[in-house]
Amino acid sequence: MAGIYIHIPFCKQACNYCNFHFATSIANKKEVLEAIVAEIEMQRNFLQQPIGTIYFGGGTPSVLETLEIEKILNCIYKNFTVLDAVEITFEANPENMLEPALKSWLSLGINRLSIGVQSFLDEELVWMHRSHNAQEAKKALALAQQYFNNFSIDLIFGSPILTTSLWQKNIETALQFAPKHLSCYALTVEANTPLHKSIASKKLPPIIEEHQAQQFLLLMQLMQNAGYNHYEISNYAKEGYHSQHNSNYWKNSHYLGIGPSAHSYNGSSRSWNVANNKKYVQSIVKNMLPQEIEILTKTQQLNEYIMINLRLDCGFNIEVVEQKWGQQAAKTIAQQAVKYINTNKIAVANNCYMLTRDGKLYADGIAADLFF
Ligand code: SF4
Repeated sequence: MAGIYIHIPFCKQACNYCNFHFATSIANKKEVLEAIVAEIEMQRNFLQQPIGTIYFGGGTPSVLETLEIEKILNCIYKNFTVLDAVEITFEANPENMLEPALKSWLSLGINRLSIGVQSFLDEELVWMHRSHNAQEAKKALALAQQYFNNFSIDLIFGSPILTTSLWQKNIETALQFAPKHLSCYALTVEANTPLHKSIASKKLPPIIEEHQAQQFLLLMQLMQNAGYNHYEISNYAKEGYHSQHNSNYWKNSHYLGIGPSAHSYNGSSRSWNVANNKKYVQSIVKNMLPQEIEILTKTQQLNEYIMINLRLDCGFNIEVVEQKWGQQAAKTIAQQAVKYINTNKIAVANNCYMLTRDGKLYADGIAADLFF
């Protein structure tokens, strides 16, 4: 089965750490949404498999009106074969989660919410330049609990003002709402973000890595105690509630990304749309896809397999590496992994190489070191 991702490139305001594509002006929202619908039609032959997942991400999809969401969904149903059991995820920010909105999302068939809470501390929400406060986040989660069986909470750890005991409180507060899924990300300082500029000009203190590591270890322990599967390095779910959409990305399934900056993958090539609302609309109006395409080499495919699978609880399978990329690749990677096995950062079982809890602290570095 395949997935469709729709990128809604609008946000009320810019969070200080964010490097996703979005605009804070909704002046051309109508044109962008018309172009999104037109692109869905243009891309109707891109996927050969039926659609098992639809994901509205951004930006902030919850800035859309019900009729706008409905138009996009209708167009998907008209142009693709959508499975009856489709998972439809909608990213929502707390300030948009009022009762009528939740009711309308449910009536459109949306069956999973991903809620951008990030923190329950007002001081930190202001620091992040989020557009909601802690009270709004709690109200939104209480409503989500009432209307949606399946919702996920996003949290961020490792900011310079989040002590480990405040982080513990954030996790415990999130768990009080019994979400089926949690995504927890370490704050990273991305280039060209307000956060990057503030740290570079010493207006804000830098991120302390040991502090982040300590918070990540605490998170893993608390989530295990609460009965969640740590199925991907940043994701925790109750049994049966993994994000099907993201799991398909990680399983190398095909997906179509619609909207400015969205990425697509069809098994051998990856393409991405221009990350500019105006250029996106101009191109679609001319009936041209505003995208660049990259054909992945065998080595790129292997390194991607290692990187993605090392982030999963099941790890990467060395037999799969040998079958798909040859004996030499498998031998080299296995040799490179020895030092991590000896230092208890990687565990091996049934030909699968998996990060241990300690190894998860160094996931990106280990993956890069194992690259062929
Ligand atoms: S709401 Fe999300 S996409 Fe928008 S600026 Fe904040 S983090 Fe980025």
